[in-house]
Amino acid sequence: MKLKVGFIGVGAMGTPMVCNLIKAGYAVTIYDIRKEAMEALALEGVEQASSPKDVAKQCPVVITMLPSSAEVEATVLSPDGVIEGVTPSSILIDMSSSYTYSTRMLSKKLAEKGARMLDAPVSGGVRGAREGTLAIMVGGDEKVLKECRSILEAVGSKITHVGNIGAGHAVKCLNNMCSACTMIITSEALVAATKLGLNPELVLAAINNSSGRSYSSEYKFPTFVLNGAFNSGFTVSLMNKDVGMAVRLGEELHVPMFLGTIVQQVYNYAVAKGGSDMCHTSIVKFIEECCGVKVRGQKYSKKKEVANHDRHRKADLH
Ligand code: NAD
Repeated sequence: MKLKVGFIGVGAMGTPMVCNLIKAGYAVTIYDIRKEAMEALALEGVEQASSPKDVAKQCPVVITMLPSSAEVEATVLSPDGVIEGVTPSSILIDMSSSYTYSTRMLSKKLAEKGARMLDAPVSGGVRGAREGTLAIMVGGDEKVLKECRSILEAVGSKITHVGNIGAGHAVKCLNNMCSACTMIITSEALVAATKLGLNPELVLAAINNSSGRSYSSEYKFPTFVLNGAFNSGFTVSLMNKDVGMAVRLGEELHVPMFLGTIVQQVYNYAVAKGGSDMCHTSIVKFIEECCGVKVRGQKYSKKKEVANHDRHRKADLH
């Protein structure tokens, strides 16, 4: 019989990940501070717990998929937290995009109770979570990873063990800093080309055949920007948090983050302008706004853009 897995945080990513765990034959006990999020997951094989402590008491492996380190710390360390329910055989896998030094602190506290921890943040977005193809960057003991590998394989297809505890979280925020950078720079290039009177679809096709291409230009622009969909499921505020952690890591390590700091300030600007709950690809809109043009293609539908924007805001405001 397969292990019972606990899952805390059933939002945009957590919900499809739980579905894939169920598909793989695990019994899953969930917890979320939003009751409606738990109720939406009324699937065969999913049970609801009353607290993080309750999850840890019932399940030898607990996964957290929460917005940031602040929520992970609260979920683990509060009087009703995971740490109060663990046993020496328990394993906590934090799959959120959290902060390396916080993760190391939590790992030490859990170790005092004999429990072990992995950090296993993901890349691939809501689509990757739905399809079970997430890229997973794992930090922690290799033996612990071996014990948990089949659980991770139920939600992802590309698992890389990058180092000791906290290493996965470091790699994740550094990756997102690179990704945010290409999102912004491609936005600037396409806004300039559009203002010059060029067709953004043709310009993007030319870039994608040339050395300026990236995941942003090859996947995100055609899928979320040119058609006005803006529905990646990954928000401006989450991207801002990730780039902020990368810049903070640079400070801790005395590594200059010349571009990273600018990238963070662009996302910070979007937050300051009220864009926290918008799709992170909406960053192009803040550059468009200054220039009076829109980077959209033939399949653009204003109605759809507004509908997606509203849905996204509503989903995140729950
Ligand atoms: P989300 O906001 O949709 O979901 C987070 C869930 O955690 C919500 O359901 C919320 O109610 C719950 N929650 C918040 N505080 C809680 C607490 N104290 N106890 C229990 N539940 C709590 O966020 P998401 O988009 O699913 O992202 C989750 C993590 O995954 C983040 O760290 C994010 O950076 C990372 N991530 C997201 C994506 C994406 O495309 N959305 C991609 C890769 C990584």
